[in-house]
Amino acid sequence: MDEILEKGSFDKESIVDLLSAGEADCGAIFRKAREIKSEFVGNKVFFRGLIEYSNYCAKNCFYCGIRSGNSRYARYEMTDDEVLEAARYAWENRFASIVLQSGERYDDAFVAKIEQLIRSIQEMARNELHITLSLGEQKPETYRRWLEAGAHRYLLRIEDANPELYRELHPNDRRHEYRNRLEALRALRATGYQVGTGVMIGLPFQTVHDLADDLIFFRDMDIDMIGMGPYIEHKDTPLYRYRDRLLPLTERLQLSLKMVGVLRIMMKDINIAATTALQAIDPLGREKALQAGANVIMPNLTPVKYRQDYLLYENKPCLDEEAEHCKNCLETRIQLAGDTVAYGEWGDSMHFRKRQ
Ligand code: SAM
Ligand code: SF4
Repeated sequence: MDEILEKGSFDKESIVDLLSAGEADCGAIFRKAREIKSEFVGNKVFFRGLIEYSNYCAKNCFYCGIRSGNSRYARYEMTDDEVLEAARYAWENRFASIVLQSGERYDDAFVAKIEQLIRSIQEMARNELHITLSLGEQKPETYRRWLEAGAHRYLLRIEDANPELYRELHPNDRRHEYRNRLEALRALRATGYQVGTGVMIGLPFQTVHDLADDLIFFRDMDIDMIGMGPYIEHKDTPLYRYRDRLLPLTERLQLSLKMVGVLRIMMKDINIAATTALQAIDPLGREKALQAGANVIMPNLTPVKYRQDYLLYENKPCLDEEAEHCKNCLETRIQLAGDTVAYGEWGDSMHFRKRQ
């Protein structure tokens, strides 16, 4: 293990060995990842206030609770005032950055609404907030309009970099093609965004070789930011029927932490999020990810009344907590994990900055 870790640049075989490490060897991976995090991005955590704008979605991904085929949730869209209030909270509390996320929609009204919301947020916050979008696959023209309106970063998970597995996870139609997802990532880079992607970890049919390929995909695509976390089943989705094939939750958590640690060693200066799904398995899951090399956390700023209707998976945490409560307990736990919150800093990906 030490020999592999010393090399620093890994081939697929070494990555598979690292991801297969038992409990005893994980410590060495996390120690190395922490050292690198400290040297290249510092022991700081950047907050991104997460606004789950709407659960309307035109897609029907087999893993996701808010897929269009699930009629159990009331569909909502936040009002302009609600979005601005959440963004104002982030700004006033010096988060410096927000994420606007929703189901995928492509109609003109949606594209124009997002453009206008970005402009209104920037006007309210005197251009002091950095805005990340997580609004799915769109036309290059749409990406350009939103960038010009004032967005900076875009998160679009590849979900799994293996095209065959991707096909198993999505309906077989033109809306859900792997090729389109890849093209969208390339279009985002060409448009000028800081580009983030990621995968779900512990999916049915997914092997440790697939996960090694995912990490190599991130490296080959020269990605600026990563948000990856455990797949968690949802009973109103088609993938639920394979629940017996899944790793136990604690193993999915451990595998996710190893993915974070190995990625930090491979891509030293990118931003890596400690994702909310980690917290769904373990109340301290995100703090453990910080100790394994992550440096971004996304406190949820969605109004509590909508949270029950944005359940991507089961046991989603913080369903009844207002933002203030989330923020205070988080700050303490981050300090216990050995990091400090970088209030007032945009926290751009160093990797992006250097490429620029
Ligand atoms: N609709 C946009 C998209 O798909 O890119 C953004 C919102 S979508 C809800 C954000 C992410 O949620 C997806 O990229 C997916 O990885 C994650 N997600 C969905 N269902 C999940 C599940 N059951 N377990 C873990 N993550 C899940
Ligand atoms: Fe829609 Fe995104 Fe969920 Fe797929 S993952 S169903 S695109 S919200």
